[in-house]
Amino acid sequence: MDERLVYCPGCNHKVRLVVTEGHPDGQANLPEDAQVVCLDFGEGCSEGSCPVTGRPGVIMGVRLARSHLNDEAFRVVHGECASCGLLTSLEMVDEEHAVCPLCNSTNTYVIVDLEDGDAVAVTGT
Ligand SMILES: [Zn+2]
Repeated sequence: MDERLVYCPGCNHKVRLVVTEGHPDGQANLPEDAQVVCLDFGEGCSEGSCPVTGRPGVIMGVRLARSHLNDEAFRVVHGECASCGLLTSLEMVDEEHAVCPLCNSTNTYVIVDLEDGDAVAVTGT
């Protein structure tokens, strides 16, 4: 995969961009499926638009989460995926959206604090 360093005026430093080739599960490798994914998506990036790609920041977060190229970039919250129904560590893209690492669905979530200091996500679609 081609990795490029591009200066991001939003983050004020260079970020790593890659272009994914089509569907990750190997279905039709159509060029129009190619997406620019920023490996350095951070918490502040979900607000507004990404200055590098011009896409909404939350879209860039979902792309990175689905690509699994840098899962460490995300804070996670435990919850049940509203799509596949499994309990997992949902990757938080912004204040409302989290991606399930198992089925790549985007959940909307609300964090509920538990009495023991832990927190879980209550999800919906
Ligand atoms: Zn899921």
